[in-house]
Amino acid sequence: MAVNDTDLTHLRRCVELAREGLADGDEPFGSLLVDAVGEVRFEDRNRVKEGDETRHPEFEIAKWSASHLTAEERASATVYTSGEHCPMCSAAHGWMGLGRIVYAVSSAQLGTWLAEWGVPPAPVRPLPVQEVAPGVPVDGPAPELAEEMRALHQEIQRRRGFAS
Ligand SMILES: [Zn+2]
Repeated sequence: MAVNDTDLTHLRRCVELAREGLADGDEPFGSLLVDAVGEVRFEDRNRVKEGDETRHPEFEIAKWSASHLTAEERASATVYTSGEHCPMCSAAHGWMGLGRIVYAVSSAQLGTWLAEWGVPPAPVRPLPVQEVAPGVPVDGPAPELAEEMRALHQEIQRRRGFAS
């Protein structure tokens, strides 16, 4: 399945959430969960600025789903995200039996940008979702949103003294 117009609408909201995160001093990542009938049930954005580096929105979604959705609902849900899940979030998604993932920007794309800006590698390897959770259907990237996401990531890296 490719990224369709409905997917793009949800991904645009993820970009908005990423922008909110950045405006609040966090990293520009936003995600949401849509159920089988197309209703947005939960959304969040990155919240690592206080020091808990595990507060990724995709991880919060996986934890939220444990107490708010049945196994069947989890399997039929779609998780949209501005940036592809990191291995921690892919694992949480896989363990919880959540359904399809759609991302705007892949980890590979982000990695290319970060390298270009001279940012040192992250402590966790940026594996594709399906290397961590092979049963999860994954779609993306959405080229329509690449420039906007690149600008948001460039902004946070500039604040950190990179990407000048
Ligand atoms: Zn993550």
